[in-house]
Formats: sequence, structure tokens, C-alpha cells
Amino acid sequence: MKIFISSDMEGTAGVVDWDHVVATGPLYPYYCELLTNEVNAAIEGAMRAGADEFLVNDSHSKMANLKPSELAGSARYLSGRVKPMYMMQGLDETFDAVFFISYHGSMSSRGSTLSHTYFPTAFAQVSINGIIAGEAGINSLVAKAYGVPVVLITGDDTTAREIAPFAPGARAAVVKNSISRFAADSMHPTAACELIREQAFQAVSSLGAAEQVVLATPTTMEIDLRTSDYADLASRVAGVTREDTLRCSITQESPLELYRTFITIVLLCRGLTE
Ligand SMILES: [Zn+2]
Repeated sequence: MKIFISSDMEGTAGVVDWDHVVATGPLYPYYCELLTNEVNAAIEGAMRAGADEFLVNDSHSKMANLKPSELAGSARYLSGRVKPMYMMQGLDETFDAVFFISYHGSMSSRGSTLSHTYFPTAFAQVSINGIIAGEAGINSLVAKAYGVPVVLITGDDTTAREIAPFAPGARAAVVKNSISRFAADSMHPTAACELIREQAFQAVSSLGAAEQVVLATPTTMEIDLRTSDYADLASRVAGVTREDTLRCSITQESPLELYRTFITIVLLCRGLTE
């Protein structure tokens, strides 16, 4: 049984500030350890339920936040910052389940710790078929395309709520309750890992009954950009329609093509800024 893990960082218990998740932050190495423990807790829970192959796609910032030798389960480690399929690089139809570890709320969510949607400078809100989508919802497009169910998500209360319309059967390990974008009431890291381990075990144990990602096709994504510069740029991508000064939309039969188009916009917008 083969599990694909996309790991972010903002959803880790205890993490509440950008300083905790950028490489220049004094506490960054400490929070990397906590993140590693949470990823490993998910792997260990899944192993107890019979999973035996793991690919961890590091999806945070420069996408090289973990120490490969410290990963449990002899997991393969997909890392590095230029990946055409970004947070979902490496997934294909040979996997049995997808885990989203240490995810966070969408940019337009109310007071979710370190909320953003891919690139906070450019994206104000993304919705899929009229439902607000954070990174988990957007990344579910790829899971849908390959027919692999999303069965586990970890992060704060908002993260758990936002994945529900896309993956109603996914188990959530809520390791913190957000107070604001920069404050949260977190479980003790050891207790958070216990919860993740248990939810991963349950998720893999009941894989036979797991539902596919819920997504009507053709699928429409609406993207609200933060400035017209970004909207100008986005609307030049093939398949993107300019709806308004700040709004673009993409309608696609294929969830994979929709994701690819979205990622092209992300990369272009980053290019405009960085
Ligand atoms: Zn993220």
C-alpha cells in the first residue's frame, strides 16, 4: 500500500508566525523538527494499518525543510523548489491514498494561522465550482485526476473545515485552534503526533470505503487577484478568462489541466514580484 504525502509547514502544532517557517527565522530549525515529527506520526500510523511505501513531497517554501535520514518508513523524499506539479509533484495512479500534512487555511478564511493560498502577495481568494478552496482544495484536483482518495489532513480547525466539501470522508487531525492569523491554541506536540498517528491509522484502515474527491466536471476555478497587474498577467495564460478588474476564471474538463493552468499563473505572478 502506497501513500503520497504532501507536507506544508504552517499547520504544525505550535507554529504561529512567519518567523517559525522561513529559513532565516531563529526558531526555524526547531519547528522543522516538530514538522518532521508530525510527518513521521502520519507515516507510523499508516504503517500500523499496513501501508509500506511512502513518498513525501516537501511543499513548503523552498521545499527542502526535512532531513531525509530522519523520515520514518524508509520514505522517499521529493524536495527542491522547481517542480511543475508543485505541491502535488510525484502523485500518480499507482498510489492508494493522499495525506496533506501541516496544511493551513485559505487566504480569504477568517483568522486561520498564517493563512494564504499559494502566493499571498497575488492571490486574495480562489474558489472551485463556487466553493472557497485553500491549497488542500486546489491540490485535490490532482488527486481527483489520478483517482487517489484524500484521506487525511492535519492543521488547524479552518484547514479541516475547508477540505470537507472536496474530500468529505477525509479524516482531520486538528492540532490547533486558530485565534487569529498570528495566534493559535495548539496541542502539545507529543499529543498532536499521537492524534495524527491515530487518524492516519484509521484513515488507512478504512481505505476500502474511501471516497474519491468530489468535483463536478467541467470544473470552474475563480481567482481573485490582489492587484490588476496580477490579473493582467493571469489573463494572458491560455484558457484563462478575465471576468473583472481583479477576477479571472478557468473552466476545464480535466482537473489536471486546470491545476496546471493555475500553477502557470502562480509561477508568472511570482516572477512579477521576485
Ligand atoms: Zn502553504
